[in-house]
Amino acid sequence: MSAKGYVEKVLEEVKKRNHGEPEFHQAVREVLGSLGPVIQKHPEFEKNALLERIVEPERQIIFRVPWQDDKGAMRVNRGFRIQFNSALGPYKGGLRLHPSVYTGIIKFLGFEQIFKNSLTGLMMGGGKGGADFDPKGKSDSEVMRFCQSFMTELFRHIGADTDVPAGDIGVGGREVAYMFGQWKRLTKLFNGILTGKGLDFGGSLARTEATGYGCVYFTEEMLKERNDSIAGKTVVVSGSGNVAIYAHQKATQLGAKVVAMSDSNGFIYDKHGINLDTVQRLKEVERKRIKEYVSEHKTAQYTEGCSGIWNIECEIALPCATQNELDEKAAKTLVKTGCIAVAEGANMPSTPSAVQVFLDNKIAFGPGKAANAGGVATSGLEMAQNSQRLAWTFEEVDEKLHRIMIDIHKSANEAAKEYGTPGNLVNGANIAGFLKIARAMMAQGLV
Ligand code: NDP
Repeated sequence: MSAKGYVEKVLEEVKKRNHGEPEFHQAVREVLGSLGPVIQKHPEFEKNALLERIVEPERQIIFRVPWQDDKGAMRVNRGFRIQFNSALGPYKGGLRLHPSVYTGIIKFLGFEQIFKNSLTGLMMGGGKGGADFDPKGKSDSEVMRFCQSFMTELFRHIGADTDVPAGDIGVGGREVAYMFGQWKRLTKLFNGILTGKGLDFGGSLARTEATGYGCVYFTEEMLKERNDSIAGKTVVVSGSGNVAIYAHQKATQLGAKVVAMSDSNGFIYDKHGINLDTVQRLKEVERKRIKEYVSEHKTAQYTEGCSGIWNIECEIALPCATQNELDEKAAKTLVKTGCIAVAEGANMPSTPSAVQVFLDNKIAFGPGKAANAGGVATSGLEMAQNSQRLAWTFEEVDEKLHRIMIDIHKSANEAAKEYGTPGNLVNGANIAGFLKIARAMMAQGLV
């Protein structure tokens, strides 16, 4: 069978066997779509059913999460942990708490995670988890009770050398700490079972900043390739969560101006620049909506609805909110209004047709699995510190993160060239990430 035929056959099977999971189909298509030339060069992969194996999670755990709200009512959510691939190390990937969570979302994220973790060069397999719990509007005690109940089941499936979860949407320092506390009560173990922990109990300096910083370091590398830099550029960052906030911080440190940010209700715009201290206080401390920003900054405007953020003129766009938030129309607008670089801080924020617009127009485009790999890379560094019972300085961690982002860009760029699509970092990241996993799976026998 031709390489193309083999890829299409596997994609058809994925659709059939994972019915009603469009996000997972999209993520698989995005990766497998780049692999034709690799399959052609390595017929042994088809012979050994490597693609069929790589698209099938090693293990999927779905469980009940019962908890009690502040009024005493019993509530039930559904918890997930998908242990996708352990060819390169213990499963590693975040936990997402959001009402939209279901198997298809966790599988898409877990699948992406395998290749992302491979790109970091660290010993980490891929996994993802979460629950369809909505932390919005819940009290601290409700969030704590939920997290304790969630861990009461999850603890039997994870371990510092087996599976090490972390944060994602809806899971920040507070939630990780509640889960870690419950893990300790259940197991008597104080170890690196979760990353993104508080600094007082095994967390790594610079982990909070890592995904956003890494995304900007990656952008800087893409621009360097074109003899350009971030300094002096106008930037739009979607979202106002963990990734968005630190993407803003690093872009500003490197001399850019961030003029817009958003949340799931709408976006703020100020041509003079968005004040990060205000956003951080509103979102991280007061847990308020982004629209509150304009009552403190008179030159800023708020617009209801988040997709309009891509109509704002900018040279660099950093989608850092959620999947499929930037569609073909938005991509065309960005190209028309002079955008030169897009780096995905979020996972799969650009739809496939939006990505195509960026590639067709030779925009420097950094796909999420490369551009946002700084978060998981620094989680890997947290695991290393935990194993050594040591804590590195902020500068040490940041320097290692920076080095890793430079290396990820280099391997994606080189793979893109080697396999005949120079400059296409979508293909490059998919191929570079895939080859390492494929070699490990082949070496480990029929796994
Ligand atoms: P947070 O929960 O901290 O923030 C998410 C942000 O996105 C919030 O501002 C949220 O607004 C906003 N948002 C959610 N849905 C939409 C929407 N439909 N349109 C516009 N804005 C929206 O999550 P993170 O910052 O941690 O994660 C953001 C993305 O980055 C996710 O795709 C995640 O998978 C990815 N990622 C995160 C990593 C990490 O280290 N945290 C690592 C790698 C990737 P609201 O407050 O209204 O919900």
